[in-house]
Amino acid sequence: MKLWVLGNGQLGMLMRHAGMPLGLEVVPVGIDDIGPQQLGADDLVTAEREHWPANATTNSLANHPNFANLQTIQDLADRQLQKSKLDELGLASSPWQPLTDSTDIDALHKALGERVLLKQRRGGYDGKGQLWLKQGEPLPSLDGWREHAIAEQGIGFSEELSLIGARNAQGEKVFYPLVRNLHQNGILLASQSPLPERDHLQTQAEEMLGKLMDAVDYHGVMTMECFRVGEKLLINEIATRVHNSGHWTMTGANISQFELHLRAVAGLPLTRPVVLSPTVMINLLGVERNDQWLTVPGSHLTWYNKEVRPGRKLGHVNLVSDTPKHLRDTTAQLLTLMPENYQAVLEWFVDH
Ligand code: ATP
Ligand code: MG
Repeated sequence: MKLWVLGNGQLGMLMRHAGMPLGLEVVPVGIDDIGPQQLGADDLVTAEREHWPANATTNSLANHPNFANLQTIQDLADRQLQKSKLDELGLASSPWQPLTDSTDIDALHKALGERVLLKQRRGGYDGKGQLWLKQGEPLPSLDGWREHAIAEQGIGFSEELSLIGARNAQGEKVFYPLVRNLHQNGILLASQSPLPERDHLQTQAEEMLGKLMDAVDYHGVMTMECFRVGEKLLINEIATRVHNSGHWTMTGANISQFELHLRAVAGLPLTRPVVLSPTVMINLLGVERNDQWLTVPGSHLTWYNKEVRPGRKLGHVNLVSDTPKHLRDTTAQLLTLMPENYQAVLEWFVDH
């Protein structure tokens, strides 16, 4: 079976890696125009990204009848349509409004509060395409934002959690346990899972993501990024794909999110994810590769072979451990090999 992936970044690469033992030929294709690809009638198509330019290459994949979830990916890639969909389904997310030519900023603060976050409707990632409006501070220029962005209430959350689930064509759904995520400047720095102390939120989270997956008849892995406010989950955003906060599953669970996605799209049996080890995933952001990371007990390096640039996601290290106490020690050990800003990981880490 051949499964094409629209996009050839690290997510596509890791899908290809996951397809190998299953005997699935997974072919990630970049979004630059290298001419139309020759897809067979029975081939399958999935995506590792939600935005792409229309050209001969992307069209040859996107126009194939076996492209899983095409309409949903395109709809939810627009934050305004995504928020509307969540509202329509009664799924809690941060209060919001479209930012139009006629939006009055004082009225906006009145409706959403002192801290309002503008987010571009399309194309934002890793905190890019966002602008804070804070009452009492000078108003930044809104050129390029009106009619192109939504405005969200700034949420004073207790922590960020995400849920990764999969659904197949028969409507069966499986979920990983909730993941805790640490962001720095809008970009994911670390994830920790599982979280026994958040088990009571698991059902709430699964019902929310499950409802959305059912509503759009989704096949594959979908990710729900949430804010925890007290005991309530508010959806921050939905990703119609495998997700950075699911990289811990490569070593911490019996099945990785990449394999789970392939199975759901290819119609192979799903399996209920089982946690094998408490895991911390540390993103390698703009740092030179250091082979000493491999000396930390329980560390697994995934290096994406990309050119080093400041802030760029270049790889990740998963730390697995048989006990949570040991995991804190090995995390601390890894952080001695990382830049200063990574110390935030240790303050955020939760002992179980
Ligand atoms: P991704 O790389 O996950 O696609 P993104 O850049 O598209 O991210 P968001 O996930 O919407 O954008 O926001 C990035 C981060 O900014 C969030 O993880 C959170 O830390 C912060 N943030 C987003 N929305 C809000 C909000 N309404 N209130 C407070 N903080 C927020
Ligand atoms: Mg996000």
